[in-house]
Amino acid sequence: MRTPIIAGNWKMFKTIPEAEAFFEDIKGKAEVEGVETVICAPFTTLPALVKAAKGTSIKIGAQNLHFEDNGAFTGEISGLMLKDLGVDYVVIGHSERRQYFNETDETVNKKVHAAFRHGLLPIVCVGESLEEREGDRTKDVCKVQTEAAFAGVPADQAVHVVIAYEPVWAIGTGKSSTSEDANEVIAYIRELVKGMYGETTASQVRIQYGGSVKPENVTEYMGQQDIDGALVGGASLQPASFIQLVEGA
Ligand code: PGA
Repeated sequence: MRTPIIAGNWKMFKTIPEAEAFFEDIKGKAEVEGVETVICAPFTTLPALVKAAKGTSIKIGAQNLHFEDNGAFTGEISGLMLKDLGVDYVVIGHSERRQYFNETDETVNKKVHAAFRHGLLPIVCVGESLEEREGDRTKDVCKVQTEAAFAGVPADQAVHVVIAYEPVWAIGTGKSSTSEDANEVIAYIRELVKGMYGETTASQVRIQYGGSVKPENVTEYMGQQDIDGALVGGASLQPASFIQLVEGA
């Protein structure tokens, strides 16, 4: 059985006091037996959140990392540094990073390796653009992105990767994929994992849906056989809706 995982992706939102206030509000409430809760927050808020999360079941994640551990990379943060902070998860290859910050399948793969090198768990985002969907290339795109992300990753690590299927056209647009469509693509991604690592790993890897998930639709996604959780942007910013998302899982 796969443990459902609800991860909030705050993107570039919240100051330290705002992050602390949010955490205070969700503590004890966004902690539901049998559901894993993660908050992926801006770097600046991570020390405060890691501290606040001590003694709770809520995990803290970053939204990016550099694939080198140290070096002349002005402005970057490495996996070594995130581990040092006590972070558990890291989002890798979010479509906004692919789109605006030159993230490629190759850097995504290097970052997955960097995450495991430091004992961080990667949430790897894959998904097609509107143009690709309309061109009937959804599965091809997911195949290329997924296989590239896992290149050289051994099976004992692969099983701990969380994949987030996020159709780019559904992110922050209010236009969500239907739960059936999302499940079909996610089942396909699971087949890809099976092709790379075999049945056991494929049946254990968790695959989330992301893209305009909110309290009103989360249960519908979670009701689908292959969907193991959600990566949530906008609806993860308010404590009340984040709690409902976790409860809905
Ligand atoms: P959204 O974002 O929930 O606001 O659509 C999802 C994401 O970007 O992870």
